[in-house]
Amino acid sequence: MGRRKKIVQECERLMDEPENIRNIAIAAHVDHGKTTLSDNLLAGAGMISDETAGEQLAMDTEEDEQERGITIDAANVSMTHEYEGTNHLINLIDTPGHVDFGGDVTRAMRAVDGALVVVDAVEGAMPQTETVLRQALREGVKPTLFINKVDRLISELQEGPEEMQRRLVSVINDVNELIRGMTEEMDDIEDWTVSVEDGTVGFGSALYKWGVSMPSMQRTGMDFGDIMDLERSDKRQELHERTPLSDVVLDMVCEHFPNPVDAQPRRIPRIWRGDDDTELAEGMRLVDEDGEVVFMVTDIGMDPHAGEIASGRVFSGSLEKGQELYVSGTAGKNRIQSVGIYMGGEREEVERVPAGNIAAVTGLKDAIAGSTVSSVEMTPFESIEHISEPVITKS
Ligand code: GDP
Repeated sequence: MGRRKKIVQECERLMDEPENIRNIAIAAHVDHGKTTLSDNLLAGAGMISDETAGEQLAMDTEEDEQERGITIDAANVSMTHEYEGTNHLINLIDTPGHVDFGGDVTRAMRAVDGALVVVDAVEGAMPQTETVLRQALREGVKPTLFINKVDRLISELQEGPEEMQRRLVSVINDVNELIRGMTEEMDDIEDWTVSVEDGTVGFGSALYKWGVSMPSMQRTGMDFGDIMDLERSDKRQELHERTPLSDVVLDMVCEHFPNPVDAQPRRIPRIWRGDDDTELAEGMRLVDEDGEVVFMVTDIGMDPHAGEIASGRVFSGSLEKGQELYVSGTAGKNRIQSVGIYMGGEREEVERVPAGNIAAVTGLKDAIAGSTVSSVEMTPFESIEHISEPVITKS
């Protein structure tokens, strides 16, 4: 509890430093390892114990989640990570892995600025990989790639270094081909292909909690040969300790995903068609915590005690208890009853949530997922487009 309280306090402090915030989603084709990876990141941030991370599958079915201290299937979770001597606040939004939840995935993308796309090294890019990439890019959300289950290439498929390299390169090429195809259609998005050299690709094993990237190899001095030796000789604990997955991934998140100050000026014109020559627009572009309140609701959840919880992204101003706010598409105003952030599956009430953060509020009785909530009447955000699965033709 003491540790958790400290994390909450640190999250509250960091909420006021938008340069050090990263709002991210992890997205993947079903079974590629999204849950296992999310678990690992929470363990790395000290939210759950190291031993329980990576064993979620057995535990999902056999044990009460409460025993592990937090709810692993949490829709939203905040954690802190120190990168290059500075602590960062990482707000992670879960995206449902199943095709039927395509709409939810798109909504989650509205709230974040970066998407970590997880691809199984054995299966490669799959139809849902394409869908989540398309959803991310449409929303102006930058992708990075984590190739998971590399342990299987080494220990199960017994691949040699050349074979393994060929396979990993082909996964990266496939993902880049998808990204290139999608960004060509969108003329205002820069080159968002991923590369090992840039550090926007990581590899590893979410199950055995080790990971590598070009920057991590330079830092730890470990190369692929060392990793293969340790994995083959079953020294996975040593591998985890020498090159922990959570450090590799969270470093990648801090280094390569834009913070809200960098992301919002680029994202706002893409998701909002209002007059950009107004103070309101300026507040959103500058992530101004003292500007008019602009909050986009991306999800409505149910809390047995507090009732409906609206969560989403604060683009401008600061959300506070007692504020009377307009809800797009409805007449009159709603009064905010409480403001909070997520820590694990639990909501922590805080005094205020400033621009650039993910907030969870009560009292917005008229809001639905997709509502624009604001202190002045405004043009609502673009509706969130549902993208369905690509049509698969069997060869
Ligand atoms: P999700 O559907 O994307 O959330 O996938 P899960 O995290 O639930 O993982 C699906 C299955 O793959 C589970 O049986 C995991 O234990 C297994 N898995 C996840 N990551 C790895 C990995 O790095 N290596 C191996 N061998 N199995 C993994």
